[in-house]
Amino acid sequence: MNELIQKAKSLLESNVVQVVIGYGKGTADKTRAIFATKPDDCNQLLFDSRCVQNLAVYLTKHEIKHLGKPAIVAPIPVLRSILQLAAENQLKETDLVILGVSPESKLIEFESFGAIEVFLETHKIEIDEKYKATIDKIKAMPVSERFAFWMEELEPCFKCYACRAACPLCYCPKCTVENNQPQWIPAASHLLGNLEWHVMRAMHLAGRCTDCEACYTACPMGIPIHLLTKSMLQDVEEHFGPYGPSVGKQNTLSSFNPDDKESFIR
Ligand code: SF4
Ligand code: SF4
Repeated sequence: MNELIQKAKSLLESNVVQVVIGYGKGTADKTRAIFATKPDDCNQLLFDSRCVQNLAVYLTKHEIKHLGKPAIVAPIPVLRSILQLAAENQLKETDLVILGVSPESKLIEFESFGAIEVFLETHKIEIDEKYKATIDKIKAMPVSERFAFWMEELEPCFKCYACRAACPLCYCPKCTVENNQPQWIPAASHLLGNLEWHVMRAMHLAGRCTDCEACYTACPMGIPIHLLTKSMLQDVEEHFGPYGPSVGKQNTLSSFNPDDKESFIR
């Protein structure tokens, strides 16, 4: 950790970056994002197993871009999200300095997105067996039972949009839910509207979600929305091949392959 603090301080002192986005002490026993703009601010930086927020969410925020060039503390989920944002032309290599953190909490400096891709080759997204079993169980339900399952799970959603705010890939300046002419998704929270919102969100993240679980962690109601995105990851892999963010790769739902097995595409 000391190494990370020293590196962050030196980046600010030499004016290579103007802000360091990292984790700091939050309320209770939680951590929160901190934005260090002075070398002394870096003393607040910490990294441990409580640092589950995906800091890549701040890289596209107008308010943070205003602070100048950032360095970002990047454990594996953040690295994956940085690559996905780069693949979607939201980030360039020269836009930021990446302070990677290995699973052993060691600082790794990445000079290029290519170097991150090489590193992630040995840290691929793996859906936990416990989630696989739950997803399989839900998928095996008859349609009416599955529909009833999701209606019940999504019933407590009161549309606070914390899940969207926590997701680095929900960066559209205007979300479909805010469109009211025409209004595709009802703004108010009610059973069918909740289902529409979550199906729409999962579809928009198909082939883009980096499985960081920040959306699930942010949900004050503990709704298992991560099961939708994990299931979508499995489906994308099954139908479109191995999944993993890559700068040169087209997004699954915004590209097509003339050799696709479906005939309608020809
Ligand atoms: S949908 Fe959830 S798990 Fe996927 S990238 Fe966004 S926050 Fe992470
Ligand atoms: S964070 Fe939870 S309650 Fe809020 S909109 Fe998302 S799913 Fe609904």
